[in-house]
Amino acid sequence: MSHLPTLTPADFGTGTCGREPAGGGTPCGAPATWHVGWLRNEEGGLRNSLACDAHMAEARDQFVYRGRHRVSADCGMPGTVWMTGRCGVLKAE
Ligand SMILES: [Zn+2]
Ligand SMILES: [Zn+2]
Repeated sequence: MSHLPTLTPADFGTGTCGREPAGGGTPCGAPATWHVGWLRNEEGGLRNSLACDAHMAEARDQFVYRGRHRVSADCGMPGTVWMTGRCGVLKAE
């Protein structure tokens, strides 16, 4: 028996571009390379999404976003917060 906790993958961490075609349809599904932070929603949370290179370029041309960084393993970790230039876990005091 192992005493290590069972890690449940965050549903966020599928690692694929979620860009849907205009008018609906199947999300892009290409491997995501960028993590994009959008404007805050009504609850004060930061809306965010994953994008591939092509759709990052499209988003850069068409939309205003708060920040972006390369997708890293931390992006999909539970409890991570958006920091300038990356995602990370705040140290518990
Ligand atoms: Zn894409
Ligand atoms: Zn991230």
